[in-house]
Parts: sequence; structure tokens; C-alpha cells
Amino acid sequence: MTRRRSSYRSLQSLQRDNRVCRACVEAGYPLASLPVVQPYTGQRAYMFGQAPGVVEGRERRPWRGRAGRTLRRWLQLEEDEFYATFYCASVTRCYPGKAPSGRGDRTPAPREQELCSFWREWELGLITPRLIVPVGGLAVRRLLGLKSVTECVGERYENEGAVAIPLPHPSGASGWLNSPANRALVERAAASIRAELARVGDAPACG
Ligand code: SF4
Repeated sequence: MTRRRSSYRSLQSLQRDNRVCRACVEAGYPLASLPVVQPYTGQRAYMFGQAPGVVEGRERRPWRGRAGRTLRRWLQLEEDEFYATFYCASVTRCYPGKAPSGRGDRTPAPREQELCSFWREWELGLITPRLIVPVGGLAVRRLLGLKSVTECVGERYENEGAVAIPLPHPSGASGWLNSPANRALVERAAASIRAELARVGDAPACG
């Protein structure tokens, strides 16, 4: 049974409940993994993706597959450095399974997105990151209220005391990355993220 307290004073207790959350299953949605919740070790930036894929769901660790390798290449970060720098969360935190069409993964339903926003809101309040990187269209919509990556990759936004710098989803499934102009925007965004990481320094955010 999913447990959600009326308030959380530590990230550890929030994560303990998040790791066993079954709210979407209880609401009737099919999920193909348990929640993927990365341990918090004082990472200085917050990455916000769409949902875990099959590999992430199996390993219960974010960005383990090919898309994660592309992301690290964009950001010029080795694997250990990446996980030490970014606390990685997502709009929904369980692998949603294959799409009914059989092509790609199922997009979490709006109700699942709403159910999972509980964890994000508490998490952001407890971690208070100074840099947030939303990855992909769904993350950009949920976090910044923007329509698509087309209007925001290469830009920076102020978001409740943090700087937000969006990236497109690195899977390339949408074809957006096929355009050289869009790839140039990704380079610009990645450079901006690296500069912002240098600016916020090595000091961990609180939480
Ligand atoms: S997707 Fe989020 S709200 Fe839904 S069961 Fe998983 S952790 Fe809970």
C-alpha cells in the first residue's frame, strides 16, 4: 500500500516511501517496474527526465541505456562524474512498459504524471537545487509549462530560485535531432549547462 505523509522533513524518508510507491498500480495503470529512485549524495544539479526505460527499470538506476550514454557525451561527463553531479528524477518513476502499438515505450497517462508529481514537489523543496535540467518534451511541459523542446533548447529559465536549462530527449526517437540546426542548439545548451555547473561549484545543495 502506498504511503504518502502529509509532510517530509528529510529526503531519506521521502525516498523510503517513494521506493515502494504503487500509486499508479492502485489507480489501475500497468507498470513494468518498481520506482527508480537514485540515492542522494549531495549532487549539485537536478536532472528531470520523462520515465525510466526497460534497462533503468530492471537496474532501478536512471539513465543506464543508450540514451544515458548520449546524454553523458553531450555533457562531456564520465559515468561516475555524471551520477555524482546530477540527482536524476523523472515525471514518472516506474517503467511504464511498451506502448500498445509496440513501437517504443508507453507515455505515462496524465493521471500517472499527476500522481508522481507529489514526489517531485517534495524532492525539489528538500534538495533546493540551483541548476535543473529538464530532458525531453514531457519534462519541459511538466516543469516549465512550455509546449515543446523546439521553443526552449538553447535557452535558460529562472525556476523558483534555480536556473533551468532544457535538453531534448537523447533517444532521438522523435527525429528532432536529425536537423543540424537542432543539434547546434543541443551543443549550445550543453555548453550552458557545463558553464552553470562550474558556476554553482562543488558545494552540495542542501537537503
Ligand atoms: S510512477 Fe510514480 S506515482 Fe506511479 S507508482 Fe511509480 S513512483 Fe508511484
